[in-house]
Amino acid sequence: MSANKLNLTLKIWRQKSINSPGSFVEYKISVSPDSSFLEMLDDLNNELESKNLEPVAFESDCREGICGTCDLVIQGQPHGPVPKIATCQLHMRNFKDGETIWIEPFRAKAFPIIKDLIVDRTALDKIQQAGGFISVNTGSVPDGNAIPIHKDIASEAMDAAACIGCGACVAACKNASAMLFVSAKVSQFALLPQGKPERYQRVEAMVKVMDEMGFGSCSNTYACEAECPKGISVKNIARMNREYFMAKVK
Ligand code: SF4
Repeated sequence: MSANKLNLTLKIWRQKSINSPGSFVEYKISVSPDSSFLEMLDDLNNELESKNLEPVAFESDCREGICGTCDLVIQGQPHGPVPKIATCQLHMRNFKDGETIWIEPFRAKAFPIIKDLIVDRTALDKIQQAGGFISVNTGSVPDGNAIPIHKDIASEAMDAAACIGCGACVAACKNASAMLFVSAKVSQFALLPQGKPERYQRVEAMVKVMDEMGFGSCSNTYACEAECPKGISVKNIARMNREYFMAKVK
């Protein structure tokens, strides 16, 4: 085997459908350290297909850390062992020759497994659709400085808007709580003047759907922040709680 290749053992969760039992299946692969994690899975699938075997189902789209679809738990961590990146930004150089890599889907009651490593995350879309938007008629594009917003406030809103909706926070949380996701979506509007008119309606509707979708409660372990590929801060959860309290006492 070439010296600059990594020889790896993969233990991959295989599950035919939501109602089938799943289990880990072992594969051996030799891969360049320069490959991305998803390219490594592409190589594995090419090999499986060349032998008329069922390829491993996994999700990806942009492969640039933006779309939030490449959800894998790698070595027990959502998006793998490197902080603040999505799975598609993870490279094989972060693993050692001879290593065994465990690859699983995001696990949460609200994320049923569709097949192998793909889970259904429409629960997050339903929360967003409940109020994560601004419904005022904005008319034509205003001048850039027509609504003055302090740089610090704009930066905080921008940091919250960096959430890509991947659901790693849910997978990392022992309660499968979606509080980090929902609080990022609430915060990106709550901080800006355009988001103020619907602030109470928004937070109440989004929290209601979050609860209905079966996500658990937050117990302040901060596991969500530690595993978030976009570094979303738990201070957004505190802001969402304040917004929710204000909505209830208004
Ligand atoms: S808060 Fe972070 S981990 Fe949770 S959905 Fe958004 S980007 Fe993913």
